[in-house]
Amino acid sequence: MDGKGAATAVEQGNWRVTEVARFLGAVRPAVDSAGLIGQLRDLEDLKSAAAALQARIAVAFDALQRREQADAGLPADRLGTGVGAQIALARRESPARGGRLLGLAKALTTEMPHTLAALESGQFSEWRATLIVKETACLSAADRAAVDEELAADAGTFDGAGDRSITAAARAAAYRADPRSVTQRARHAAADRHVSLRPAPDTMTYLTALLPVAQGVAVHTALARAADIVRAGGDSRTGGQAMADTLVERITGTPGGITGIELQLIMTDRALLQADAEPARIPGYGIIPAERARELLTTAGTGSTPGQTSAGRDAVPSPAFHTWLRRLYTAPATGDLLAMDSRARLFPGGLRRFIRTRDDTCRTPYCDAPIRHLDHIIPWHQNGGTTAGNGAGLCEACNHTKEIPGWRSHPVSGPRHSIEVTTPTGRTYHSTAPPLPGTPLNHSPHSGPPHNGAAADATAPSANDAPSRHHRRALRHRAKALKRARGTAAMAA
Ligand SMILES: [Zn+2]
Repeated sequence: MDGKGAATAVEQGNWRVTEVARFLGAVRPAVDSAGLIGQLRDLEDLKSAAAALQARIAVAFDALQRREQADAGLPADRLGTGVGAQIALARRESPARGGRLLGLAKALTTEMPHTLAALESGQFSEWRATLIVKETACLSAADRAAVDEELAADAGTFDGAGDRSITAAARAAAYRADPRSVTQRARHAAADRHVSLRPAPDTMTYLTALLPVAQGVAVHTALARAADIVRAGGDSRTGGQAMADTLVERITGTPGGITGIELQLIMTDRALLQADAEPARIPGYGIIPAERARELLTTAGTGSTPGQTSAGRDAVPSPAFHTWLRRLYTAPATGDLLAMDSRARLFPGGLRRFIRTRDDTCRTPYCDAPIRHLDHIIPWHQNGGTTAGNGAGLCEACNHTKEIPGWRSHPVSGPRHSIEVTTPTGRTYHSTAPPLPGTPLNHSPHSGPPHNGAAADATAPSANDAPSRHHRRALRHRAKALKRARGTAAMAA
């Protein structure tokens, strides 16, 4: 594009974003320090301006989608469904975050022009605009506009201010505008109570509960009291350890907390039986080192958690810990699980477990939420089969989104199980099942030697490309040895 053409395009607003990106790609880092810092700042401003434009675009998209949905006969109370999910896919975000981004866009464009202007001019990042929108979410549109006016973020009010002071200023202004709503909001917050699990370093995990203050304090006090009692009786555990153990015991009903709950562990046969280092996977948690996985299999039956035996409660006998080995076979080069089929409409137990093991989390791109539903990719009433290939694990929200008119999915060929999702605009997105332990993330079918791995699922294992007879015999031998050693292991083929 020559200079004159560019000027005309800018005047007419006809620039394509891809052209802007192309120009950006041609920018080289400056040659002096001041120039480099200047570029950093200019790019930051550009990111904010892009976020502001995305907000305007999202709102326009929402309006257009609603109009199209109304024309297609969708009832008024369902208008706008799936819009956040489409924005999420386009922005490579989770569906939940897509919905929040649309909410942010609507608030900025309709009620908070000063905050939007601050974003457009680079005085605010998208995150800081989000903080102000969040703190004013409980207000009426008029009150929100008044707060926006008072804060006047575009007039440089927040020059040099950090996240915390921006939040505090917005909260104070919201309270001045409508004290009652802000108080009521505290009451509504109880609706957000939940329990979540996320990985912590060293194969630990954070089990977090967001609770109303009274319940939270009550739980903590009960745990502290129980810990005090056992420690007064001579237990050598620290207060923190005793509280954590009591929490697990009371919730699972079992000391050590594992027996009676199916803890799956997916690992290669080499990692299980031949001390191979390929990490294992615990569905719902993620990756753990192979050695830790082997420890779990062999020591969880002692009634204490591994690594804790020196802390003084290893003497507690417990019901037998059963290890079930289940063998899963994968395609040699790609790590795709080999298929299982059923004639039934509902996915039977084995097939459910198979799909959950293969998919690990919701299959919508960027979603990552735990699987709540097993879904026919091509619906049963459209002759979609109850097969591993036509099944996918989805979270609750994505399962609903899939039913919205205009959304289609079908299985496609890929390195591993793959799905193509088509949204109402005709845009397509691909979802490929994660690789099982023993397979690299990016595996071209022709690179490297074929993998000969079996995964154990504790209820257990195995990704394996039709292992040789010798290999199978070795596996059986090691499994028997494991069984003799623990006296509790069972083998299910
Ligand atoms: Zn999902």
